[in-house]
Amino acid sequence: MRRIGLVRDDRYLGHATGLHHVETPRRLLAINAMLDASGLSNSCRAVAPRSAAIDELCRVHTEAHIEKILDTAGETLRYLDPDTVTGGQSCAAAFLAAGGCIAAVDEVMSGGLDAVFALVRPPGHHAERGRQMGFCLFNNAAVAAAHALCAHGLKRVLIVDWDVHHPNGTQHIFEDRADVLLFSTHRYPFFPGTGAGSEVGQGAGRGFTVNVPLPARATDADYAHIFSAILEPVAREYRPELVLVSAGFDAHRDDPIGGMLVSEDGFALMTDAVMRIADACCGGKALFVLEGGYDLGALRKSVQSVLETLQTGLPDRLNTRCRGANAAPPPLFDQIEDARLSVQPYWKCL
Ligand SMILES: [Zn+2]
Repeated sequence: MRRIGLVRDDRYLGHATGLHHVETPRRLLAINAMLDASGLSNSCRAVAPRSAAIDELCRVHTEAHIEKILDTAGETLRYLDPDTVTGGQSCAAAFLAAGGCIAAVDEVMSGGLDAVFALVRPPGHHAERGRQMGFCLFNNAAVAAAHALCAHGLKRVLIVDWDVHHPNGTQHIFEDRADVLLFSTHRYPFFPGTGAGSEVGQGAGRGFTVNVPLPARATDADYAHIFSAILEPVAREYRPELVLVSAGFDAHRDDPIGGMLVSEDGFALMTDAVMRIADACCGGKALFVLEGGYDLGALRKSVQSVLETLQTGLPDRLNTRCRGANAAPPPLFDQIEDARLSVQPYWKCL
């Protein structure tokens, strides 16, 4: 059984977004209720978050952007853009979300835990170097990756982003460097507009951005095929020293905005694939960071599925159903093949 940690703190509930916003504190309340009812609160270890330091945020954000977020402290609801709103406690929550991910990296790198799930708000993967975007203030996963590189001296970090939206912020922050490999599955065309298969990185980072754009209604079988046919071989060739997952759950079939057909079993399969990579390449070191996911029931079930797979591996019923050597091609095989061909020139294994 793996040793799993949870970053969980009531101050993440303090990021108020108004009555009608889908990115609501109720998301974490639903997850917390599941953790307590399922016993996962007891079987996972608590990892205490801290506020990120300005220097730690400056690794991936401009000082002007950090100042802008600091300016919102204590203010009543303020729309920074049509999607992204802050309340009086949002700045504190955002510093604690980024810092919670840093604390989780420290915990995993020190060997105290095998993997940590940072259950943080606000989410992060749309936040650009110089601006907030799409409910995100600071790019938590990017801050965590930069911390692993700068503070722990790592040379290769893999970020897997399975949120239904493309991680424009994470891509732009790291697209010109080879020490972060970004792998994203997302609906396309869709918000935020980026994420075509032809976006493969720039300069020294060419080939180190792998986008798998998908039409609506992608299934568990599609995702399982993407992870085994593209992610796993590329990641094993890259040999990451730490695996980060931007874990959004808005590709779930019950999500009100994603339009995909993934079930909680699909998230278990993706988790298993990620952990096979982590086990093979870096002693199982992994950090999961909460991104989107807006149906409370889907969020509860999916996070539970990820944590149980992390602890004890894939349930037997999924092992037998989805690992057959003669499995039929998934519904979106042709689109997935197009994505594979986009990055084939950069990876011997493809
Ligand atoms: Zn999303």
